[in-house]
Amino acid sequence: MPLLPTADPYLPGHGDPTYAVRHYDLDLGYVPDGNRLDGTAVLDIVVREQTARLVLDLAHLRATKLRLDSGRPAPRVKKWSARDHRLVLQLDRPVAAGTELRLTVAYGGSPRPVIDRYHGDAGWEELEDGVIVAAQPHGAPTWFPCNDRPDDKATYRITVSAPAGYVVVANGALVARQRRAGGESWTWAMDRPMATYLATVQIGRYATTEHDPRTRTIAPPDADLAGSFDQQPAMLEFFERVFGPYPFDAYAAVVTDDDLEIPLESQSLSTFGRNFCSPDWEQVRLIAHELAHQWYGNAVTLRRWQDIWLHEGFACYAEWLWSEESGGPRSCDAWARHHHERLAGLDQDLLLADPGPELMFDDRVYKRGALTLHALRVAVGDDAFFAVLSDWVATRAGESVTTDDFLGFASERTGADVGVLLRPWLYDAALPGFPQP
Ligand SMILES: [Zn+2]
Repeated sequence: MPLLPTADPYLPGHGDPTYAVRHYDLDLGYVPDGNRLDGTAVLDIVVREQTARLVLDLAHLRATKLRLDSGRPAPRVKKWSARDHRLVLQLDRPVAAGTELRLTVAYGGSPRPVIDRYHGDAGWEELEDGVIVAAQPHGAPTWFPCNDRPDDKATYRITVSAPAGYVVVANGALVARQRRAGGESWTWAMDRPMATYLATVQIGRYATTEHDPRTRTIAPPDADLAGSFDQQPAMLEFFERVFGPYPFDAYAAVVTDDDLEIPLESQSLSTFGRNFCSPDWEQVRLIAHELAHQWYGNAVTLRRWQDIWLHEGFACYAEWLWSEESGGPRSCDAWARHHHERLAGLDQDLLLADPGPELMFDDRVYKRGALTLHALRVAVGDDAFFAVLSDWVATRAGESVTTDDFLGFASERTGADVGVLLRPWLYDAALPGFPQP
């Protein structure tokens, strides 16, 4: 059997580089009792390299009907098959680069997370009474057929119907809410480019607290948001001062009735467990962390998973900044010193700019990534440093980037050779000394 493509070596068996998806239109129905998901996905595709085959990612769910429209003359699907969490479409003739196609896939089944040897489980997950989708990095195929590559950003329209009594939340703005037999359908639209792993659906018995016109918490009605999620408007206002304008229209934190070990960012919202309803710094820092990902990770997204420090280092640095701003346990510089000391006592076997798939979410990526930014700040001064952070988002929002892109950008903005300055932090395993002015 012919080998199926891998778009990113950190995610073997995901993604097809021969095409890109411009827009996903998902229309899904979900029945929590029995965990049944059925629906239709319409993908607007642009072919990037001539090909007679399209490979999509779809895990645990069964496609029942496929149709290909547009293109001139429109190619036909000669045959298609499902294997290894992929849908493989053979076309009746090669299609040229630049060809636009519309693919409709009807599918359904009992969705559940995918598990791989590097990243554990991710994707559509049943809760005690509801659903979360926590897809980073490899869980998107558990709920829709997609081209699962971090660099293939698309716009989305997501409609999900669920029984009465449930609230359905997805990315972007709620554009329609309609009664359907036995329940309601909710349509959400994300009109800014979004990576597949950042697409999400959250279903639960929730009430919405609007902190201000841009900031909401969607949580069980009895959740106590004081001192934790009610801090989000102040966080957002502070991050806008240091990172520039919030890159989406609004932001929501979804708090599930279940406790969750780790929260997760999606585009324009994040997901937390009820255990994060606490004013303790260990919880509050992660509320700030997930919000900061809207700038670093969601608006500006890595092109390759090896550059994950461009997300996690920045979001971790945002925690330290928020600690200083909000009168938290330490100043930013004190957090940097604290974690430098801790890292110095750990194994020095991680390359920050290429940690390998097994270590990409290692805590050292977060802390050393934040220290790398601190080193830049100490070298160029506060004004230049914060100008780099905000201009980076202002100029690259909606795009996919690499570490070299950031180094080149920061060098150009500051006049310093940032590549040379940060090389030991990024490309040497040994921990550099604490940054000195
Ligand atoms: Zn993070």
